[in-house]
Amino acid sequence: MSFSSLGLSAPLLKAVDEQGYTEPSPIQAQAIPAVIEGKDVMAAAQTGTGKTAGFVLPILERLASGPRVRSNQVRALVLTPTRELAAQVQDNADKYSRYTNLSSTVVFGGVKINPQMMAMRKGVDVLVATPGRLMDLHQQNAVKFDQLEVLVLDEADRMLDMGFIRDIKKILALLPKNRQNLLFSATFSDEIRDLAKGLVNDPVEISVTPRNTTAETVTQSIYTTDKRKKAPLLVSLIKENNWKQVLVFTKTKHGANRLSFHLEKQGITSAAIHGNKSQGARTRALEGFKNGDIQTLVATDIAARGIDISHLPFVVNYDLPHVAADYVHRIGRTGRAGAVGEAVSLVCNDDSAELFAIERLIQKLLPRKEHPEYKAVNAVPESKLDTRPIKAKKPKKPKKPKPAGEKTPNKGEHADGQRSSSKRRGNKPVGKNQRHKNVRKQKTKQPSSASS
Ligand code: AMP
Repeated sequence: MSFSSLGLSAPLLKAVDEQGYTEPSPIQAQAIPAVIEGKDVMAAAQTGTGKTAGFVLPILERLASGPRVRSNQVRALVLTPTRELAAQVQDNADKYSRYTNLSSTVVFGGVKINPQMMAMRKGVDVLVATPGRLMDLHQQNAVKFDQLEVLVLDEADRMLDMGFIRDIKKILALLPKNRQNLLFSATFSDEIRDLAKGLVNDPVEISVTPRNTTAETVTQSIYTTDKRKKAPLLVSLIKENNWKQVLVFTKTKHGANRLSFHLEKQGITSAAIHGNKSQGARTRALEGFKNGDIQTLVATDIAARGIDISHLPFVVNYDLPHVAADYVHRIGRTGRAGAVGEAVSLVCNDDSAELFAIERLIQKLLPRKEHPEYKAVNAVPESKLDTRPIKAKKPKKPKKPKPAGEKTPNKGEHADGQRSSSKRRGNKPVGKNQRHKNVRKQKTKQPSSASS
């Protein structure tokens, strides 16, 4: 199949050709014609599937034939959970619209608002935004939605994880009712389906990545070791194997800083990215990592979400994620588009509950390795594959609205200070801080989250 058979016109085909794409990815083949037709779309697709071009290209195609955008107006709005993803989507929009008259801009928090207000003055055909800053700009009359034709929620599951649901609902209420809606999400939990009900109208449903599977092209393994040996083990693995571009995941921001500092001290160039870093620092770190100046990028899950680095060869889980599905997201950074990648996890005795939950989720046992110098003294228990299906938990939501100012009990505070809804997503958090350590005991219905 070719891009020209999907209904894209010459200026877009030229831009696609310049990117070197020879044929549409599966999500593009399905989404592009549907969006051009004006249909609503609900797509289950992760980063790495080509989803961005899957919505940006047909949106540009539609906008090319419409009226000119007026001052402060927006014709297509793409909402994303993180600044990094917003910047990447706009970068794509910029490239693909090169031979059209259409404009695109990105707005996100953490940087000055004034330049963004200026950028909105002439109006923008495609605006990519994170929810909080978009609301600020709207309140200041810098962004108006009278001309809005298309709304995209990108990585909707992450947006809900990060607690953006109220902002999203407020934004939806500001938009013209008559519009096209596109919803992209890596997973389709009940919560996403709920959101979708009030959003998409008779949607074309597309699923290109079976949920919770890992790419065949990624070699996965674990090194069993002790907790305090993880840092020297990582240094040895990087040096002995001459790993060049390594994305390392830690659970906490503090852990990311500490590890990055340690790597630097050992002569391995490194930077940490997480929610406490300024936008400038995050952008610089990402650039340095992409161009090879920085050998290791140490990141928390949220900061790394959506990072698009083509052919990223190595992903290391220095800490296993609390939520098993995040393992799939993490290692999805490598082995993209058929390229070969390697995902290595450093696992100590304390991590065994997380390990077993991951193996149960991906339905395979991860091959174990040992480094002769950093063997585990405190052994990691043997894995045994639990083949029982994982039932999504549906904790009942509190019915009564909370009095103003009262905070939801927030046990699952995310590494980046964002609310985590791992429970709501049905992906049970595991780990030593969780009361329910043994996954097998979780057959009975969970008590209401309001009472916990
Ligand atoms: P995405 O899933 O949108 O984050 O895209 C992942 C990567 O795939 C990006 O680096 C894109 O530039 C690349 N890409 C998108 N579409 C294609 C295509 N049809 N052929 C090859 N690479 C593509």
